[in-house]
Amino acid sequence: MSNQAAPTIFDGHNDVLLKLYRAGGVPAAGTFVSGRDGAIDAGKAAAGGFGGGFFAVYVPSPMDLDFKFKEMTKATYDLPLPDPIDWEDAFPVVMSQAAILFDLEKQGVLSVCRTSAQIRNTLAADKLAAIFHIEGAEAIDADLNTLEVLYQAGLRSIGPVWSRSTIFGHGVPFRYPSPPDIGSGLTDHGLRLIKRCNELGIMIDLSHLNEAGFWDVARHSSKPLVATHSNAHAICAHSRNLTDRQLAAIKESDGMVGLNFAVAFLRDDGRMLSDVPMQQMLRHLDHLIEHLGEDRVGFGSDYDGAVVPEGLTTCAGLPTLRQAMAEHGYDEALMAKLCHENWLRVLETTWGE
Ligand code: ZN
Repeated sequence: MSNQAAPTIFDGHNDVLLKLYRAGGVPAAGTFVSGRDGAIDAGKAAAGGFGGGFFAVYVPSPMDLDFKFKEMTKATYDLPLPDPIDWEDAFPVVMSQAAILFDLEKQGVLSVCRTSAQIRNTLAADKLAAIFHIEGAEAIDADLNTLEVLYQAGLRSIGPVWSRSTIFGHGVPFRYPSPPDIGSGLTDHGLRLIKRCNELGIMIDLSHLNEAGFWDVARHSSKPLVATHSNAHAICAHSRNLTDRQLAAIKESDGMVGLNFAVAFLRDDGRMLSDVPMQQMLRHLDHLIEHLGEDRVGFGSDYDGAVVPEGLTTCAGLPTLRQAMAEHGYDEALMAKLCHENWLRVLETTWGE
């Protein structure tokens, strides 16, 4: 029988830096190596064949998570978006989480990669490959000075918004059922951000952006369109998922979509309940492959940031997903594309190296 931890899964989104930040910051980073009570750590990654991916830096809003999680188990819901966060408040949080990422690199457990070749070499060396990603651009100032400096520090991917509004654009509230067409498009600052990211070689992440913002990026970006952690709206009519029209635009640009494991974006009924069979994930994958082609689909687990299916609560469980994919009839070549090859291709095109 084939190795259950292969092919290596390079993943579009995780929130482990936020979790380590909340657990105490850099002093808590050692638990990533020694073992922690969460979805991703070094041991679980090795067991599950998790090769790393986009490590999100995210500034949390003061909000009642218990309320949010309870609301999202209901048949319909429409959560209000948290208030915008000022640059002054966001910047220190981004610095703290980035410091955790670089501490993990210092500990030798991962490499912060700036080129696709670096990712390939890191994966080949059986080490975790990390992309420094910012989810929600509150820490970027209108003059983009912080963008320039963060790029020098290794930033290679950014979402102009997590769902709450920024000076750059507006995101979707957590609403089911709902189309993603909620609110207005990118601001002038947002258009300048897209242009500068294109020039620098910073990937623009469309997950969380509303539909008007999506089309603004589609019109103005010179790079492939990418949603790092989003699913098919045709199956789960959640505001966070992508319509078939959006998928067609992503295909046209030769971009890609990473399948989100968050149960609220997987289930037909949009409820945040974790009894989701592998079959449901395969339905999304089939739909994404049908609309995007085999070369434009990957994973974006949302590990350590979302309620995920019972059978996949940590990345040590990824062999179960691989087995389901193989039993579903995905051949070796397709498995490799979905697990990491497609991400590597899109990143190489976007970054130019
Ligand atoms: Zn997210």
